[in-house]
Amino acid sequence: MSSSVHSVGFVGWRGMVGSVLLQRMQQEGDFSKISPVFFSTSNAGGAAPQFAEGDPGLLADAHDLDSLEKLPIIVTAQGGDYTSKVHPQLRARGWNGLWIDAASTLRMNDDSVIVLDPVNRAVIDQALASGVKDFIGGNCTVSCMLMGLGGLFRNGLVEWATSMTYQAASGGGAKHMRELLTQFGEIHGAVATELADPSSAILNIDRSVLSAQHEVDASQFGAPLGGSLIPWIDADLGNGQSKEEWKNGAETNKILGFSGSERVTMDGLCVRIGAMRAHSQALTMKLKEELPIAEIERLIDADNEWATVVPNTKEASMSTLTPVAASGQLSIPVGRLRTLEMGPEYLSAFTVGDQLLWGAAEPLRRMLKIAIGEL
Ligand code: NAP
Repeated sequence: MSSSVHSVGFVGWRGMVGSVLLQRMQQEGDFSKISPVFFSTSNAGGAAPQFAEGDPGLLADAHDLDSLEKLPIIVTAQGGDYTSKVHPQLRARGWNGLWIDAASTLRMNDDSVIVLDPVNRAVIDQALASGVKDFIGGNCTVSCMLMGLGGLFRNGLVEWATSMTYQAASGGGAKHMRELLTQFGEIHGAVATELADPSSAILNIDRSVLSAQHEVDASQFGAPLGGSLIPWIDADLGNGQSKEEWKNGAETNKILGFSGSERVTMDGLCVRIGAMRAHSQALTMKLKEELPIAEIERLIDADNEWATVVPNTKEASMSTLTPVAASGQLSIPVGRLRTLEMGPEYLSAFTVGDQLLWGAAEPLRRMLKIAIGEL
């Protein structure tokens, strides 16, 4: 344990993940042990935000390697392009500090660890002890899924699983959230007068809505999302699978430290929906053995303090198992648990998680605390 104050560089603190990270650090009093240096890719020389005591100074240039390499720890939520450019240059200069990153760029490297400490603290501790320096946050959907269903995976009960996702706009970042809201506003604006008149024809409203949906600015998502969905997230891998779907199996097994025969086969379809924040996913799991639902619920609940079983009733599902209910919460509700018609080992589950918390900022915040000996 260390009681000193640690210098830490923050890059990408203004974005969606970075803002939530700093908000959580403030809530938890983390800045009492950290002396932050804030960087910017767009506003170097501007005023730095006030999070710790003392003069916050000015924003440093996030591409200034001389400034970056003075720091023993750098936390970045700036994005993959930044990581691809700056990380190799820093390492080539011999910088030996800890790099804690939200971007996917370094996740699957052999010399990096995906951090999700309630699930893989042992993997993190072993990596730190053996000199690993790159600690990367996992894919948001994978991290939220493992926080909810880790009890089944970590007890080696899952033979295979599919995850069908319903991912929120916030997964794309600040500009994507703004685009979705703007689309909703424009769509509403196109029919506001008719909507206010209870006698107006619904087919006329429907036609105007559709026409507005075709015309909205969709430059961030690439297709209209307000009142619609987009059944593809991230790059096309050329084999029919999206990169987001590939991450499902690859990252789940890496986080769990599973290899060879331990690996769990995972696949599914990843879909963007017009939710604002918090990703949902419906899972089908083939268990290795038949277990009573009560035992499954006990294993899920007992795995970590955030996984919360929701009774499989209409009332509980509608009140607690939605993006609106889960947004801003650290708890990960898991519900719709039942044995499927396919057989007694086939289990369904539905889980929702605020992907900006456990899916992005919280594992990074906690990794920083682990790194400075405070967790
Ligand atoms: P973001 O909101 O787009 O922010 C990234 C950077 O964009 C900011 O740090 C900021 O950099 C710049 N920026 C430009 N215009 C901005 C504006 N209007 N508002 C705020 N920032 C603006 O991206 P993000 O969603 O935080 O994602 C960052 C990284 O985390 C990505 O690699 C992403 O893949 C990963 N990640 C995201 C999530 C998620 O749920 N969003 C989950 C897991 C991982 P400057 O201040 O330097 O200009």
